[in-house]
Amino acid sequence: MKRVFLCKETASGETRVALVPQHIKRLCEMGYELTVQSKAGESAGIADDEYEAAGAKIAAALTDGYKDCDIVVRINKPDSIEKIAENTLHISSFDVFNETAAIKEYAAAGINLVSLEMMPRSTIAQKMDIQSSQASLAGYYAVILAASKLPKLFPMMMTPSGTISPARVFIIGVGVAGLQAIATAKRMGARVEAFDTRPVVEEEVKSLGAKFVKIDIGETGQTEQGYAKELTPEQVELQRKGQAKVCAQSDVVITTAKVFGRKAPLLLTKDMTAQMKPGSIIIDMAVKTGGNVEGSDPEKEILLDNGVRIIGGDSLERNVPKDASNMFSGNIFAFLEHFWDSENKTFKLDAGDDILKGCLITLGGKIIHPSFADK
Ligand code: NAD
Repeated sequence: MKRVFLCKETASGETRVALVPQHIKRLCEMGYELTVQSKAGESAGIADDEYEAAGAKIAAALTDGYKDCDIVVRINKPDSIEKIAENTLHISSFDVFNETAAIKEYAAAGINLVSLEMMPRSTIAQKMDIQSSQASLAGYYAVILAASKLPKLFPMMMTPSGTISPARVFIIGVGVAGLQAIATAKRMGARVEAFDTRPVVEEEVKSLGAKFVKIDIGETGQTEQGYAKELTPEQVELQRKGQAKVCAQSDVVITTAKVFGRKAPLLLTKDMTAQMKPGSIIIDMAVKTGGNVEGSDPEKEILLDNGVRIIGGDSLERNVPKDASNMFSGNIFAFLEHFWDSENKTFKLDAGDDILKGCLITLGGKIIHPSFADK
């Protein structure tokens, strides 16, 4: 298995590409053979001839690429698996928890599926972790977006014409996206507060110069992989009450609170957004997984009667396709490099490997991942 095919994305709004020329060149040097679908890099600003110069062949159409490959690489789950040959290794993000029917389809077609968001959170797999690389950029962009929509400045300014107070920014959920959002808002001069249910986060928030909002919601914690545990309905209610005042005082609220494999908690209700100041901006980065904010919509911006704007901040990394593609590509490169068997010049599909145990969903016509095997 050494023939890799890079596909052009078809999802609406997608701007990224899963591999960039610098990594294609290194993969070719290693022994992989690369084919790139024509115009795959167009929306990320990469022309076909840059891929050719890096050592890839260009396939005019998707089906041409599918014909002669062992491994398919893309960012998103494809619209259809038609013409993907049996035994192909398909690598992409997949939204597996919401795509159990599609997983069955892949297994039935004998396609071996790697779902990148299932990458284990281990030191060795960190460089292959698309969730982290993309969430970090999304967190940065959420702040830029909020600043561009807010009718006031972020930093404090003292001028002869008067003093401008700094914007107040509240970040709910301090994982990868939230940390980057805090760092960005701080760099832009805002006064930043943050909250997360994982107690370990408090020190990280403080080290970035932000204030950690203390809310007593009882016993919380995190899984072995570092993900938050789901709160009880009573705890969610306590959290809402505890953070209502901070929301009302904030100019910007960015929510990133997610629970892996489950619906995101609803943290800002209509009553709470009604108490916010006119012109305030809310960005709900969990909008696609259930939403942290009542009324948020992934497709459109909502202007409330009180002048507060709710923006559904899904896949914000798509606004910076150059860097997002470079980082995604770095993750794919690390994955392909890790499993390269240099002696036999092949990708070594070892289902017993700890990394593949986490992210290999189907193999040899069967669903092998324990979380999906019986669904
Ligand atoms: P995530 O996207 O699942 O969740 C985002 C944040 O929301 C998390 O910090 C979570 O604690 C928080 N959250 C959940 N419910 C909440 C609630 N009710 N209120 C407030 N916050 C809530 O998580 P993530 O950003 O992908 O990562 C979480 C942790 O895992 C981070 O500490 C990160 O550093 C760690 N991590 C480790 C590795 C690795 O070791 N390879 C890789 C990536 C991330």
